[in-house]
Amino acid sequence: MTPSATPWLPEDLDGLRALLRSRGLQRYTGEPVSHLEHALQCADLAQRAGASKALVVAALLHDVGHLIEGAAGTPSLEGIDDRHEQRGAELLARWFGSEVTEPVRLHVDAKRALAADPRYLRALSEDSQRSLALQGGPLEAAAMARFVLQPFGADAIALRRWDDAAKRPGRATPPLEAFWPLVQACARPARAA
Ligand code: FE
Repeated sequence: MTPSATPWLPEDLDGLRALLRSRGLQRYTGEPVSHLEHALQCADLAQRAGASKALVVAALLHDVGHLIEGAAGTPSLEGIDDRHEQRGAELLARWFGSEVTEPVRLHVDAKRALAADPRYLRALSEDSQRSLALQGGPLEAAAMARFVLQPFGADAIALRRWDDAAKRPGRATPPLEAFWPLVQACARPARAA
C-alpha cells in the first residue's frame, strides 16, 4: 500500500512556496531526483530554451499535483494514476491564468502524444513508461495531430520534453528563490501573496 499523507492545499503563494520547500524534498517516486530538484531542472531547461515567463512558471510548478497529496511510494507500481496534472492545474488556477495552468493540465496528454513516436517511448524513464499505460497509453496519430494544434498544445509538448530531461541526479540549477519573482510576476495581481 502507498502510505497516505494529509492533503496540503496552499492558501496563497507563500504557502505554495512552503509546499515546494517541504514536500519537494521527498524523492520523486521512481526517479533519481527529489521533486524540488525535478521542478528546478525543468524550469531551468525552459528558461535556457528562451520560454516565456508563464511557461517557465508552468515548468516549475507542473508536478505540484503530486505534492498536494504527498503520498510516499510509487503510485504507478500499484496501478494508480494520481491525476496529478488535473489536481495541479486546479490549484494553480487560484493564482494563474491559462498560460500557466493549461500546459500543466496538458503535460500528461503531451506525453501520450509524443509516445506515438516509438523512439520517444523507448527513451522514457521506467516510471514514465509504467504511468503512461495507466494514463491511457500513446495517442493515435490523428489524435496527436489534434493535440498539437489545440490552444497551449505546443507549450505542453515543450514542457513535456523539459520534464523528461529534468531527472538528472546532481545537475546544478538556480535555487527556488531565483524563480520566485517570475512566479509572483505571472500571478494575477489581486491574488498574489
Ligand atoms: Fe514532471
